[in-house]
Formats: sequence, structure tokens, C-alpha cells
Amino acid sequence: MNISKRVKAFPPYKSKSVGNNIRMDKNESPYPLPKEIKKEVLTELDKVQFNRYPQIAARSLRESLADYLGVGPENVVVGSGSDEMIPLVLNTLSAPRAIITPPTFSMYRFYAELNQMSLVKVPLNDSFRLSVEKIKEEIDDKTIVFICSPNNPTGNVFPRDQIVDLLDTDVPLILDEAYWEFSGSTNIDLVESYQNLVVLRTFSKAYGIAGVRVGYAVSNAAMIDYMLRIKSPYNLNSLSMITAEVMLRQHDLVEDRVRRIIKERQRIFGRLGDHCYPSEANFLLLDLDAGEYLADRGIAVRTFESELTDKVRVTIGRREQNDEFLKYIQGYIADENS
Ligand code: PMP
Repeated sequence: MNISKRVKAFPPYKSKSVGNNIRMDKNESPYPLPKEIKKEVLTELDKVQFNRYPQIAARSLRESLADYLGVGPENVVVGSGSDEMIPLVLNTLSAPRAIITPPTFSMYRFYAELNQMSLVKVPLNDSFRLSVEKIKEEIDDKTIVFICSPNNPTGNVFPRDQIVDLLDTDVPLILDEAYWEFSGSTNIDLVESYQNLVVLRTFSKAYGIAGVRVGYAVSNAAMIDYMLRIKSPYNLNSLSMITAEVMLRQHDLVEDRVRRIIKERQRIFGRLGDHCYPSEANFLLLDLDAGEYLADRGIAVRTFESELTDKVRVTIGRREQNDEFLKYIQGYIADENS
């Protein structure tokens, strides 16, 4: 078979994490789904006709999401993880250039390259702030901009006035809010006034169901209509739809878990202050090259191949996991200083 040259240029996908006992590498929720919620999902699943395709365009989940978000169902499209939303947005827009702001989530670059877009990198400054003026200099009418806030892997939120400043240029802005629940700040309301904004969200982090893969995009009705036209019709399976709907009814549980993660994040930050960057997400970026050290002790953290090779990103876990992590990382720091 004649494999496309473009595809041949891609390295095999590998998730760069080390260690395999305590998983603090993928920014997942550390909390399993409670038994009673699993039961509720299974009761709903029992009503599903497995020989039939799932509901087209996930109508009821979109309606529930719209209620939750205070928008119309015509403003929402759902998919198999928010990852799936990225190529969907790129395929919908006519934009051969993408601006990314490294260090940031790697999949923007991945899908931009897969779509043969030219990639413009406007790195964050030394304090991980956006260089808005530099982004604006790079913008033309063929460009889209990806912004992730809170940013993965740095953990910081970009101020609303910078987002507005970028939106005022009229360029399509893909704003990834995968971690917004841990920061409490969102710009999703701007969808109402800005036609050039697409916000991406996920059920994989605060909602704790990474395994069933549900994400969504929120934008103006015309943009969503075009995205619905080109997405594969049954992109979300029945189990995923049902689990997401059930989770949307679990506000108290989700809020409680988010609060606990924030508390744990603050506790770890308090202990490691000098060695980690402030974060408003469910992870911390550490200024320590401790990936292998932790892996040898059974703790998986995220390491990096470029830009941040001397740092690791650690996902906040449950208290006892964090204690274990703290014990080893403090050992690492003590070893380094001795
Ligand atoms: N956006 C960001 C910033 C992420 O960090 C991730 C997951 N690592 C995703 C999107 C993808 O999430 P999902 O599981 O919904 O595909």
C-alpha cells in the first residue's frame, strides 16, 4: 500500500510517562466512579438496544449540556473526548496557519501538522505569560489561534482581557478549557458575543470519566451546525452518552472532588513552593528533573522531550498518593542538595 508521505513523517504515538504504580502522569481524576453511580449507568445501559446505532448527534446529551451551560443545544457538539473536537474544528474552518503558544498541549500541533497547516509558535514568556502583541503580529486572515487556559503543562490561567484582546482581532480562537473547573474561571460566556470563539471542554478531568471518552465544543450556532455536518454521525457511543448524562447530575460529587484536589494542590505547593510553579489546574509543574527517580519508586509523572526537559508535571492524586509522592520528591530534593 502506498502510505502518504505526510503520515510517514509522523512518529508512532507514545505517551511519555515513566513509572507505573501510582499514576500521576495523565491529569486524570484519581477518584474511581462510586459504585452507586456505576449502578445508575448500568441500569440506563440496560435499556439500550445494542443492535441499534446510538442517538444521532447525541441529542439528549447536548440538551443536558446546554441546560448545564446556559446555552442552546445548537451551541454544543459532543465527541469522543475533546481530542476529537480539535480536528473537527480544523476541518470546519478554512485556515492554513495555526498559532500555538508552547509549552502547551501537544495535540494542537499534532492535528495542525496532520492537516498540513503551517505552524507558528509564539512561546510563552519566562513567567509562562502570553505574548499577546507577538501573537497579534503573526495573525492574518488565514490564521487560527489555539489557547489553553489553564494551560497544560504550566498550570496558569491567562487573564480574560488577553483572551478578549485576541478575540477582538476576529481571528478564530480555539480556547481549551479542559481544566477550568480547578481554576473556577471560564470565558465560555464570551461565545455569546464573539462569533470567532470555540471553547473546548472535557469530562476526562474534573468529571472523572476519561475512560469513556466524552468532550464537547461550544460555539455560535452556525459554527456548530457546520461541525455537525462533517463529524462522523455516530461518533459517540451509547455508554459514553449515558455516563456523561449521569455525571451531569452529580454536581455535588464533582464539586467536592474538585475542592479536594485544589486543597491537595495547595498542600503540595506549600511543601514544594520553590520547586514548583503556581497552578490553577489538577497538576503542578515542577522545576525538578525527577522523572526517573520517581519512576524507580513506582510513581509515574509526565516528562518532556522538548522545552521542559528539566521539569516534570505531576497530577494531583488522592491524599495518600500525594503523601507517597511528597515523601519521595523530598528525598530527591535532599539528595540533590547533599
Ligand atoms: N485538552 C487538554 C489541554 C488536555 O490536557 C487534554 C488531555 N490531556 C485534552 C484536551 C484531551 O482530553 P480528552 O480526554 O477529552 O480527549
